[in-house]
Amino acid sequence: MQTKEHLFKVLVIGDLGVGKTSIIKRYVHQIFSQHYRATIGVDFALKVLPWDSQTVVRLQLWDIAGQERYGNMTRVYYREAVGALIVFDVTRASTFDAVLKWKDDLDLKVTLSNGKPVPAVLLANKSDQSREGLRSQIPKLDTFCKENGFVGWFETSAKVRGLFCDYEQDSI
Ligand code: GDP
Ligand code: MG
Repeated sequence: MQTKEHLFKVLVIGDLGVGKTSIIKRYVHQIFSQHYRATIGVDFALKVLPWDSQTVVRLQLWDIAGQERYGNMTRVYYREAVGALIVFDVTRASTFDAVLKWKDDLDLKVTLSNGKPVPAVLLANKSDQSREGLRSQIPKLDTFCKENGFVGWFETSAKVRGLFCDYEQDSI
């Protein structure tokens, strides 16, 4: 039986220092390519997901290294993306304030081939640093995502593995 392969371009955007590169490295482990840095100004990493016995998904995660000013991102970087992770740092409020600017920039510059907005997920990163602070934000983030067209949000930590499985269970 032939295996089907799907290649999905996913953007990882957000302010400088929020942990975009760290999240990608954590997720993809050693498979990290800087091949395109010189030519198009982004790094991308490939995560291969054996989806089922007939399907392989290749996630191409685009890290906008060094281009962290939303106005700076051109349509070329965003082109043909089918998803976006918009990252903020829970210890720095200014990075949360920037989230909507990133979302607007994305929506302005790219849509899916059917004209719909590229699905965006909000990542509250460095949650290992600020668990109590974030706990009080949970209802607000649900509303925030609904009001601003995010498909959802997750707490992440590139530093502490497995933190959030426990946290999800005891917080609900
Ligand atoms: P980028 O500019 O968005 O790519 O951010 P980096 O991945 O370079 O991370 C910026 C800094 O934050 C680095 O010093 C990382 O070690 C640190 N960092 C990234 N993610 C986390 C996290 O989840 N928890 C903690 N404590 N530090 C993090
Ligand atoms: Mg980076």
